[in-house]
Amino acid sequence: MTFDALGLCAPILSALADLDYEKPSPIQEKAIPPALAGRDVLGCAQTGTGKTCAFAAPILQRLDARPVRGRPIRALILTPTRELALQIQESFEAYGKNLPLRSAVIFGGVGQQPQVDKLKEGVDILVATPGRLEDLHNQGYIHVEKLEIFVLDEADRMLDMGFIHDVKKILTWLPRKKQTLFFSATMPPEVQGLVDSLLTDPVKVAVDPVSSPVEVIDQKLYYVDRGNKSKLLASLIQRPEVKNALVFTRTKHGANKVAGDLQKSGISSAAIHGNKSQTARQQALADFKAGRVKVLVATDIAARGIDIEELSHVFNYNLPDVPETYVHRIGRTGRAGHGGTAVSFCEFGEKELLAPIEKLLKKPIPVVDGHPWPMEVFEAPKRDQRGRIVNADDAEARQAARERKKIRDEAKKAAGKPAAAPQTEKAAASEAQKKETPVSKRQKKAAAVPAKQEKPAQSPASGKRKAAGYRPSRTLEEALTAMEPHWSEEERRAQKQTEYYRDPLAGDVVMDATARLLAPRKPAKAQEPPAKQSGRKKKKPNPQSVSPAVPEAQKRAPKAQVQERQPSRPQADRPKRNRKRRGGPMEVVLRLGSQKDSTEQQGSLMKPYYFNPDED
Ligand code: AMP
Repeated sequence: MTFDALGLCAPILSALADLDYEKPSPIQEKAIPPALAGRDVLGCAQTGTGKTCAFAAPILQRLDARPVRGRPIRALILTPTRELALQIQESFEAYGKNLPLRSAVIFGGVGQQPQVDKLKEGVDILVATPGRLEDLHNQGYIHVEKLEIFVLDEADRMLDMGFIHDVKKILTWLPRKKQTLFFSATMPPEVQGLVDSLLTDPVKVAVDPVSSPVEVIDQKLYYVDRGNKSKLLASLIQRPEVKNALVFTRTKHGANKVAGDLQKSGISSAAIHGNKSQTARQQALADFKAGRVKVLVATDIAARGIDIEELSHVFNYNLPDVPETYVHRIGRTGRAGHGGTAVSFCEFGEKELLAPIEKLLKKPIPVVDGHPWPMEVFEAPKRDQRGRIVNADDAEARQAARERKKIRDEAKKAAGKPAAAPQTEKAAASEAQKKETPVSKRQKKAAAVPAKQEKPAQSPASGKRKAAGYRPSRTLEEALTAMEPHWSEEERRAQKQTEYYRDPLAGDVVMDATARLLAPRKPAKAQEPPAKQSGRKKKKPNPQSVSPAVPEAQKRAPKAQVQERQPSRPQADRPKRNRKRRGGPMEVVLRLGSQKDSTEQQGSLMKPYYFNPDED
C-alpha cells in the first residue's frame, strides 16, 4: 500500500515524501480513507504508531478543498500534554507545508501573549491543551462557531491526568455538527462514555502497539555501586556507538546532578524535570533533537509524551519502582522499528526492583561483566519501621531541598525580608520523618504489631499504588497499552504540578503578580455576608500591614468575583505552590480605601482587576 492509494492530494504526498515516509503505517492505512470521506473515526492507537499523520493529513486535505474567508478556527486538536501539542503542530506544519493553511499551538506554562497574537492573525487549525484553551476561551480569544473537525487525542491520558471534566466542558462550546476523530490507546468506561456521546456511526480502527521493545532493543544490565554510577555512565556515553542518549533518574535532584556530572566529564547534557521552566524544557528538548546536546537527563514524569526519533540509547540510571515504567522507558529507543540499546544500572539495594521487571520481560536482562566499576557494596538497603526500603536517592533529594531552602532563607534574612513560611520545610521534614525516622506513634504501633515488620519489603509508593487498584501487567503488550495508569496519587499530583507549572519569570506570570500587588479591593456591599473561609484558619490581621480603617468584609472579596476572572480550572487542579505564594499578608496592604485604580476611572477601556486573597 502507498500513500497515493489512500487518496491524498499531491501537495501532501510531496510533503510526506520529503519526510521519507515511504508507506503508510497500519493506523494511517485504516484511518485516512474514512477520515477523508468525512466520517467520524474511533482510533485505538498510541503514540509511536503514526496516528498524528492519520488525522493530520485528512484534516489538511479537507480544509484545503473548501477554503473559507477570514481564517476562523476550522479544526481543533485537543491533546493532554504540552510536548504532544507542540509535536502535533510541528507535524501539521510539516505535512501541510505545500498548502496555504495556518496552524497554531496553545498550551499553559508560557506567556499567553504570543499565542493570543497568533490567534488574532487567524488560524485554520488549532492544537491545544485543555487548560490554556479554556483560559483563552474565557478571555474571548477563541471562536469555534465555524469548527468543522474536532480531534480528541489520547483520551485515556486526559482521564489519567484529571482533564476529563475540562474536556467535557470544552465539548459544550463546539458546534453539534462536526466531524470527530477520537484517539485513545485504552478504553476505560469514562472514555467509552465520551465515545458514545461524541461520535456518530464511527469507523473503528485499532492497531497493535508499536512492536514490542524486547524484540528490537538490545538490553544490558550493569551491576554497579551507587557511588560509581556517574563514572560508568560517562565512560559508556563516550563510546562511539552512543549517538545520543536519554537518561532516566529517580528524582529531579538526581537529574540535575547526573547532567552536571556529565558536563564535568565534557559530555554535553541537559536536565528536564518539573522544576524547570517550560522554556528551559523546550529549549533542552530542541537542543537534544537538533543534536546540540548529546544527553537528556529526565525524570519519568518530565519525559512523558516526548517522542525522539532515532534515539540510540536509553540509560536507566535508577531502576523504576514499577516494571511497566521500565518498558515505557526503553520503548523510547525503539521508535518506528529503529533498533536501540537500553542500559540499566542496578546497585545492590535495587535488586528487588529488578525481579518484577524481568518477570514482565519473561527473561533476564543480559548482564555485562568485567566493567571497571563492579559492585563492591553488598549492604542490605535501609528500611523503615514498616519494612519499606528507604531510598538513598530520595533521601539525598530531600536533604538537598532542605539545604537549598536554608540558603534561600538566609539570603532573605540578610536582605531584611521575613523567611518563607516553613510550610514546605515542615512538609518535607514530616515527609522525611514519615519515611526515614518514623514518629514515636508509629514506632509504638510498629512495636505493638511486630508481624507487620516481617512483611515482604515494598517500594515506597507500591502500597498506594495497590490501594489505587494497581494490577501488574501480565504481558508486555498489556504493559505498553497500560500507559502508566499505575501512578500513585502522589505521582499524579506531581504530573499535574508539572503540567501547570508556570515559569515565575514568564511575562504573564510577572504581570499577574504585579497586577495582584497593585490591584484594589472591590468595595464590598454592606449587606453581603463575609466569604467562606475555604477550610483555612482565619488569620489574625497584622496590625502593621492591614489598614485599621478597612472593614473585614472589604479584605475578602466574595468568591463569585474570583470565578468571573479565573473560571477555567478546578481549584483542586491548581498547584499548591501558587496558592501559598499568593495569599500572604503582604499582599493585603495595598490600595485600600477610596483609592482608585486607573482601570476604575471613568472612561478606562480596561476591565478593573480586583485582588482577592482567596483566589487560587
Ligand atoms: P506518531 O505516532 O504520530 O507520534 O508518530 C511516531 C513517529 O513516526 C513520528 O516521529 C513520525 O514522524 C513517524 N512516522 C509517522 N508515520 C510514518 C510513516 N508512514 N513512515 C515513517 N515514519 C512515520
